[in-house]
Amino acid sequence: MAQKYILALDQGTTSSRSVLVDEKGKIVAIAQEEFEQIYPASGWVEHDPFVILETQLSTLQKVIEIANITADKIVGIGITNQRETTVIWDKNSGKPIYNAIVWQDKRTAEICEDLNKRGLENHVKQTTGLVIDAYFSATKIHWILENVPNAKQEAQKGNLLFGTIDSWILWNLTDKKVHATDYSNASRTMLFDINKLCWDETLLKALNIDQKMLPKVKPSSFHFGDFILNGTKIPIAGIAGDQQAALFGQACFKKGNAKNTYGTGCFLLMNTGKKPQFSKNGLLTTIAWGINNKVYYALEGSVFVAGAAIQWLRDGLEIIKSAEESEFFAQNVGDENPVIVVPAFAGLGAPYWDMYARGAIFGLTRDTGKNHLIKATLQSLAYQTKDVLIAMQEDAGIPLKSLKVDGGASANNLLMQFQADILNTVVERPKITETTVMGAAYLAGICVGLWQQNELTIHREIDVEFIPKFTSEKREHLYKNWLKAIERTKNWID
Ligand code: ADP
Repeated sequence: MAQKYILALDQGTTSSRSVLVDEKGKIVAIAQEEFEQIYPASGWVEHDPFVILETQLSTLQKVIEIANITADKIVGIGITNQRETTVIWDKNSGKPIYNAIVWQDKRTAEICEDLNKRGLENHVKQTTGLVIDAYFSATKIHWILENVPNAKQEAQKGNLLFGTIDSWILWNLTDKKVHATDYSNASRTMLFDINKLCWDETLLKALNIDQKMLPKVKPSSFHFGDFILNGTKIPIAGIAGDQQAALFGQACFKKGNAKNTYGTGCFLLMNTGKKPQFSKNGLLTTIAWGINNKVYYALEGSVFVAGAAIQWLRDGLEIIKSAEESEFFAQNVGDENPVIVVPAFAGLGAPYWDMYARGAIFGLTRDTGKNHLIKATLQSLAYQTKDVLIAMQEDAGIPLKSLKVDGGASANNLLMQFQADILNTVVERPKITETTVMGAAYLAGICVGLWQQNELTIHREIDVEFIPKFTSEKREHLYKNWLKAIERTKNWID
């Protein structure tokens, strides 16, 4: 029988990628193109929506060439994308009326302050699961409508469409026929009621956004429409935002399964099952995915400074030449490192939320050397992850079952072993750490009947399972010291 493939499109913040996955869940070809980041003013970040589209389509063509297959071998397309980034376009001309405003863009901070002043904080939390922040799409839509001439009038006439990047790509791939998104992306707009699964009228009204411009919201594993490639109709059958796709790609299908992506920062998500769990610790409640007529929820938390702390060792202190080298030097120091580094370079995030905290190094003695600092900095990634996971378990009322890891710093064995030890949980690193892409591929493959969800775990080869080894005394002693250090970094600047 001829081999079948799923094509996964991964539209990220700095690059567009296309990946072909075969029936066994193996990646057979990858093509990637970086694109320009546009910084029109301090705190502003934009992308050109057409450049996003062009790079996505050219990597799509390239990956087919690399694999040397014909379009009819591709049975489904999955899309995963940078979340929250906002595009508004004219549905007649197909042209965006403004550049895409990227999730990192802070220009709408004042609009957020205004929403806070109008007392909408609780409403936002209870309906959308989010905190009022410029990250999310809602205030970006408002900004474009207010600042582009005639935009408001055109929106009222029904001539404009809004979409997160998945919607923009979907609309273009379906030849302007399908204007839709999936639950996971909708839940990042700060306009979507994650309980009732519909757009929230109070927030639409508060921000003067016409419902006519919003996409239809569908399950993540769903036949959204078709892309015609060289005369062959290929179903677009899966869509999810990047972090949710990674949770799916890590096969975190059960309540209590969690994944952590160790990049510049850490992104932690825990599957909390079919009911939304709201956080008391400032974590976000979000939709993980919709599949088989059911919606699954997740709690999400992040660590601001993770891999960035390793970059600080390299570029700031200049005591390592590469991030990988950190493992070599840290090996010379035992786990009971007397030194603790708290990399609160820009304050403390979840669950402490102290923007006045600053980084600090504790426990210095005459024999402290660079190895201690390097080890302590690596350990800080694991301690911060534990802080967030404790909050998640408390909020969800679910114990952590397993932690699946990916991202650049998950390659560090010493860090992963310490993570397992300090959590007292098995840490599982898959062989394929392309979890985001795999999530999109899985969602599409399930929809077109190539795979069953419950058989996907056999695709996932585990690289290493890090088994916790610490005694409870050792673990508690170390973590207590970390918490003591955290207390002393709080409220540092006036
Ligand atoms: P991002 O997607 O945020 O750019 P990546 O997943 O590419 O991040 O991971 C890069 C980050 O991981 C960098 O901050 C780097 O310092 C860190 N990193 C990469 N390899 C290692 C390693 N072996 N040990 C520790 N940190 C690492």
